[in-house]
Amino acid sequence: MEYVSTRGSAQALDFEGATLAGLASDGGLYVPREWPRFSEAEIAEMAGLPYAELAARVMQPFVGVCLTPDRLRQLTTKAYGRFAHRAVTPLVQFDETQWLLELFHGPTLAFKDVALQLLGLLFEEFLERRGQNLTVVGATSGDTGSAAIDAVAGLEKVDIFMLHPRGRVSDVQRRQMTTVLAPNVHNIAIEGSFDDAQAMVKRMFNDRAMTDRFAIGAVNSINWARLMAQVVYYFAAAVQLGAPHRQVAFSVPTGNFGDVFAGYVAARMGLPVAKLIVATNVNDILHRALTSGDYSQGTVTPTAAPSMDIQVSSNFERLLFDLGGADGKAMADQMASFEASKAMQLSNAQAQGAARLLTSARADADDMNRAMSWAWAQCGELIDPHTACAVHAARATDCGPGVPVVSLATAHPAKFGDAVERATGQRPALPARVGDLFEREERCVELAGDYAVIADYVADHAVPRSG
Ligand SMILES: *Cc1c(COP(=O)(O)O)cnc(C)c1O
Repeated sequence: MEYVSTRGSAQALDFEGATLAGLASDGGLYVPREWPRFSEAEIAEMAGLPYAELAARVMQPFVGVCLTPDRLRQLTTKAYGRFAHRAVTPLVQFDETQWLLELFHGPTLAFKDVALQLLGLLFEEFLERRGQNLTVVGATSGDTGSAAIDAVAGLEKVDIFMLHPRGRVSDVQRRQMTTVLAPNVHNIAIEGSFDDAQAMVKRMFNDRAMTDRFAIGAVNSINWARLMAQVVYYFAAAVQLGAPHRQVAFSVPTGNFGDVFAGYVAARMGLPVAKLIVATNVNDILHRALTSGDYSQGTVTPTAAPSMDIQVSSNFERLLFDLGGADGKAMADQMASFEASKAMQLSNAQAQGAARLLTSARADADDMNRAMSWAWAQCGELIDPHTACAVHAARATDCGPGVPVVSLATAHPAKFGDAVERATGQRPALPARVGDLFEREERCVELAGDYAVIADYVADHAVPRSG
């Protein structure tokens, strides 16, 4: 399988190249040149497979010749063997139509583990093969940092530098990062906001003095391999609920549009998806874009669901590219005009194409609290504030008679215990696997929010591309 950039001019790469590259050199995102399709019979045969086996089947067409089917199955078995639930992503039933897909049984309690546990192993495999070192640089407002650090801790050919805004992540989130003491893990608390940290990371990807010496890699959802791994659980849930013979709808709490784009890919691969509900909090740029075609950046309002407090959704570009007929030149023009004016209008083809599968809903603080208290009082389930946005949207949307609606549960409720307790009166317990988090030693450096200081620190501690 070949991967091309959404902006049309970067070199096409194979799966291995796209996994190690992160962002394309023309500023675009890598997407497969075509979508593999499964027949009804092939989807029917997926029912009842162990998760690791299903994952290997769904991902093999994207991986192509970069890994043999046996090797891919070994990697998925290892990645998903670390999950605390045998089903990896179990389904829970709320009522006759509403379901919950629990994606938080990985080591750091958020759905990002599903993709990052595999991505760490893919990095290791490809870097060994090339005899190359990788310098992962990322910024986090919480969940990505801990999941990425857990996934690459101790890997020989990877160093990870994770920037977080000092004092602005929760204690659980910080400790999940800073208590990992492996020598290749470098936690940096910077003076400033998440946006400041993110801007410095982007600058490093374009800093020739750095990129000439170091292979800089990405762990956020601009990395295609992450989205690929997330396609799997849409298949897992749908076949349990009767696909391919029955349509299934999904409600997805959305920030960077990565998770919901994975659902779009599943539909393109032949999964009978009735509707994909894009669930936002009050940071609703996607809700506005999908209801009126107006994609314009507002200011970020902090909410109880911080991983969705985003105004520019990187992966939306992948959707617009696909709906616009995979025209890289047109996409490059559209994104250039967005970057200049912070606003753009969807084309007719993009708006109509999106409307065929996607719908959206927005949850404010009251909606989130009501969804949490409904899930607890009616169904005995504690859900976190991100998941609450999805459950609110699922209950507010008509997906047709007899269509099951699956809300994606993206974080364990204990990760956002204060908000859950305020809405339900119940304090969710931290699972045993992270139970001694508050006794462990922490390691973290504090640096000024100054690009030169951060770049010097990375250069002093990272291992060059080949060396
Ligand atoms: C990252 C995250 C999201 C948003 O996912 P996207 O792929 O960025 O849309 C939602 N919920 C939680 C808990 C997250 O960590």
